[in-house]
Amino acid sequence: MKQVYIETFGCQMNKADTEHMLGLLDEIDYKHTENIEEANLVLFNTCTIRETANHKFYSQLGIVGKMKKQRCRDGVTPSLLLGVGGCAAQDKKEWLIKNFPYVDIVFGTNNIQNLPELVKKAESGKKVCEIEEELPYELPELPVIRQTKVSAWVNVILGCNFNCTYCIVPSVRGREKSRKPEDILKEVERLAEEGFKEVTLLGQNVTAYGYDLSSNYSKEKATFGHIPDDPEYSLAKLIRYVHDVDGIERIRFLTGHPFHVTDELIDTVAELPKACEYFHIPMQSGDNTVLKRMARVYTVEKYKEMVEKIRNKMPSRGVLQYAHAAITSDFIVGFPGETEEQFLNTVKIVKEIGFDGCNTAAYSPRPDTPSATWDKQIPEEEKNARLRYLNSVVNEVVGIKNKDLLDTIQEVLVEGTSKRNENNLSGRTRGNTIVNFDPTMAGFKPAIVGTLVNIKITKVKRWALDGEVVGN
Ligand code: SF4
Repeated sequence: MKQVYIETFGCQMNKADTEHMLGLLDEIDYKHTENIEEANLVLFNTCTIRETANHKFYSQLGIVGKMKKQRCRDGVTPSLLLGVGGCAAQDKKEWLIKNFPYVDIVFGTNNIQNLPELVKKAESGKKVCEIEEELPYELPELPVIRQTKVSAWVNVILGCNFNCTYCIVPSVRGREKSRKPEDILKEVERLAEEGFKEVTLLGQNVTAYGYDLSSNYSKEKATFGHIPDDPEYSLAKLIRYVHDVDGIERIRFLTGHPFHVTDELIDTVAELPKACEYFHIPMQSGDNTVLKRMARVYTVEKYKEMVEKIRNKMPSRGVLQYAHAAITSDFIVGFPGETEEQFLNTVKIVKEIGFDGCNTAAYSPRPDTPSATWDKQIPEEEKNARLRYLNSVVNEVVGIKNKDLLDTIQEVLVEGTSKRNENNLSGRTRGNTIVNFDPTMAGFKPAIVGTLVNIKITKVKRWALDGEVVGN
């Protein structure tokens, strides 16, 4: 038996890809190890969204390269094969091969399915570099080895048709391509049989799911997100199909684009009990001029309209005393040309909307994206100062939102042992906030992993909540 160690950078899509890589490699007898010293094969599944992830990857690659050379010199077995996949490989294949000659395998985001074949070639002493510019016409169904037991990621659409001027995703991941609903349903049914209770439907732009499968889809019009009239397929329809799968108790989706958050989607989430009232919809800036230069194709007013619709449709549900649907966002500060006033508009909107959580980042110019070459790049110190200020506001806003949860009763899906206290369990609310609790409260059956329990929130911390069981 051989062993593979995979280091994953970046988003949930990359983590889901890693689970598929493990499934594919299992078919050629590579088992997963979390100990790099035992590995015969080390893979890096890379991300190029931000410079920090890139730096981390190159530094790790250097360390593993030295380890490989050392093993070679000492005649230590197992000898080591080194592979690089994901967005950095797709984007920089020649450069990687030239500058890191100890890398044996380079593969892209569009040909993960060929990984076993590439590893076999490398085992026979050949260096392999295989990148496909486009996804296969028929998306292959890939084997998978999950790293979780209760909640599973399910890729439903790959690529993105938008062209945000700071983003490298369209050039490394290509245009949107949806999986067929019947394939997704088979996967979800298998997950239910294996005991999973929650699925998160994933895509770089998951809210565009299905449009490219619809008969009146126009490839030309679809740039910048066009929605076909009366499409036969959509994320809302997919959620309905998944909702019918017995055993699955919760459905989430990630990551959406405001342009595609349709009334159909909002109504579906509001109507279906298994659909969690959780919308992660990146806004990126609170200023219309900046949004236009980012090519985000919506305005602040449109975004606010969307928030209002979501909150009006989902004020609270059943026994749960949750104020409204949870809405979270991503923001970039220090976009080229962003003035102090425009930045303060972002601060203002974060307070005004009252997000339940925000990922924030200083603008990081990505090679081959339009905005990377624009004038008026903001100096690093200024970007970092803006980021620090925005983060302090986000902490304040999220703190207030979390305080609203104090003394409310939340439905929590128990995911496992708490990271903070091994005697406690931990799970997530429908709004995706972590709750830690003692599973053995008097008067109730002990809560167990994989079940839904009602928890009264007793304490609010910055990133998590404490609670006690009030119902199984
Ligand atoms: S919507 Fe914009 S930021 Fe998101 S993946 Fe597509 S191009 Fe990138």
